[in-house]
Amino acid sequence: MSLERAIKKVAEYLGLEEQVIKDLVNRRVLRYIEYKDLPYIVFRREWKGFREGTVIIIGSTTIKVIHGYPSIQRILLLKAVQRHFIDQVIVEEKMDGYNVRVVFFEDRILAITRGGYICPYTTARLKHMYEEEFKKIFKRYDEDLVLCGEVVGEENPYVQHYYPEAPYFDYFVFDIMRGKSFVKIKERDNIINNTKVKLVRRLGVIGKDDLNTLQHIVRRLERDCREGIVLKDPEHRVKPLKYTTTCTHLNDLELGMKYPFDEGRSFLFSRILREIWKIYEEGIDEKELAERAKALGLAILKPALESINRLREDKAIYEEYTIRVPDIRVLDDFIEYMDKLGVNIALAQVTPLPDGQVKARIIKMKNTDIEFRRILRTGYSPID
Ligand code: ATP
Ligand code: MG
Repeated sequence: MSLERAIKKVAEYLGLEEQVIKDLVNRRVLRYIEYKDLPYIVFRREWKGFREGTVIIIGSTTIKVIHGYPSIQRILLLKAVQRHFIDQVIVEEKMDGYNVRVVFFEDRILAITRGGYICPYTTARLKHMYEEEFKKIFKRYDEDLVLCGEVVGEENPYVQHYYPEAPYFDYFVFDIMRGKSFVKIKERDNIINNTKVKLVRRLGVIGKDDLNTLQHIVRRLERDCREGIVLKDPEHRVKPLKYTTTCTHLNDLELGMKYPFDEGRSFLFSRILREIWKIYEEGIDEKELAERAKALGLAILKPALESINRLREDKAIYEEYTIRVPDIRVLDDFIEYMDKLGVNIALAQVTPLPDGQVKARIIKMKNTDIEFRRILRTGYSPID
C-alpha cells in the first residue's frame, strides 16, 4: 500500500483531515511501516491522547487501533504505597524482559513491542508456542482484547535475562487492555487461567498500610535476585507503581558499564539514585553500608575494565545474543525488520537444528568500542 493511501484511510478512520496526518508523518510523530503485507502506523510520541506506542493497523477490509501500554510510575520509597492506594494492593512480580502486546487482527496473531512495532521474531515464536491458545481467548471473549505481557528468557534480541522457569523464551501476561483501559485483575485472571498461557506471579494481596509484608516480599525477591514488584489496585482505580531490587540495580549497572558510552551513561545516575533511597529506607548500619558500597563500586568499575582489557587482547566491544527461529524465513524477516528500524546488526553464526529450527548468533557493535580505542591510543578524554 502506498503512503498516500494509508494516510487517506487513517484520516478517514480517525475523522481527521488528511493534512493533519501528513503533517504528523512529516514531523515523525507517526511512522508508516509494513509487516509482511500488512501496513500500519506507529505513534512514536504521544499525540492528543494517543499514547506513545499506539498502532493503527490497516487491513484489507478493516482497520484497528491498538493503544500503547502506559509507563508505570516508579517509587523510590516503599512507604509511598500508603499514600497512593485506596485499600487493597495486589503485589505482582515485575519480570525483566520486554513488553509485548498480543493482538488478533484479520484472523492472525501479531506481537507488538512497547514502541509499537510488529516484531517478526516475537510474532513467530509466540505463534509457535501459543497460537491456538491465543485464538481461543480472542474468540471466546472479545477479539479486540489486547494481551499485555513480558517476553523473558535469553533467546531474544532485546532483553536477555535467564529465568529458571523460562530459560529460553516464554511469555507472561500481566494485563489485558480493552481499548485504552485495563480489565479488572479478577477478570484478567479468569480469562487467562483456563488456558495454557501463563500469568506473572502474584506475590501477595496486602492492605495499603502493611509495609512490613511488603518489605518481606522484597527481601525474598532479593534473595533470588528477581527484578522487583508492580503494585496494582484490584480494579485499576489508581495507577500502578513499580519498585526494583538492589540485585537488579547492580545487574543493570554491570550490564550498562560494559559499554559506558552506550547504555552506561544513562544507567549510572538512575540506578545509583534507586540504591541511595533503598539504603536510606532500609536504615542499614555502617558495616553493611561499606559492603553495599563495595558491591556498587565493583558493578560500575569491573565491567568497564573488562571491556578495556578486551581491546588490549585485540577483541572488539560488542553486544551478542542468540535467537532461535522456527524456520529460516523468520530470520530473513527479522534482519529486514532491524534494517528498516535502522538498527545495525551482523549475523555471526547460523546453526540449523535437527528439528528444522535455526539458531542464529547476532552481534551489535557498540559506540564504546570506538571511544575506548581512541582513549587507549591518545590518552585524551572525549568528555570533560
Ligand atoms: P516505563 O518506565 O515507560 O514504564 P520501562 O521500559 O523503563 O518503561 P520498566 O522499568 O521495565 O519499564 O517497568 C515497566 C514495565 O515492566 C512494563 O512496561 C512491563 O513491560 C514490565 N512488567 C513486568 N512485569 C509486570 C507486571 N507484573 N505488571 C506490569 N508490568 C510489568
Ligand atoms: Mg522492564
